[in-house]
Amino acid sequence: MGDPRDAVVLLCKCGKTHKTYGIRTEKLSGKRWNMTWAFPIRESVAKHEGYDKVSVSGDVSMTDEYPGCPYCGQRNITVCECGHISCTVVRGGVFTCEWCGAQGQITDYSGEKIVADVDL
Ligand SMILES: [Zn+2]
Ligand SMILES: [Zn+2]
Repeated sequence: MGDPRDAVVLLCKCGKTHKTYGIRTEKLSGKRWNMTWAFPIRESVAKHEGYDKVSVSGDVSMTDEYPGCPYCGQRNITVCECGHISCTVVRGGVFTCEWCGAQGQITDYSGEKIVADVDL
């Protein structure tokens, strides 16, 4: 409340529990963003708050204090081409987007940094 810094809440879905959580993301400068916190949120509440329409573009990094997914502890997230993010849960080498069901192979993914390139 009253945080002077620019911050948004990105909605993410957990690929293990299929639950929704919010990721508090602070704007550093220009197109750099830092994820600082994750917290469980009900999807209905998130939609009411408009969090499902929030997107960022540019470089998104995680701070050391970023706790990971509140459900499964996963610190890696994957941005789908649909613009939504999910915990990186890979089954048989295939990642499935929790939002749109798209599937893809994950290759050479460090998890240290994601690049979100989403049109508002
Ligand atoms: Zn998770
Ligand atoms: Zn998707």
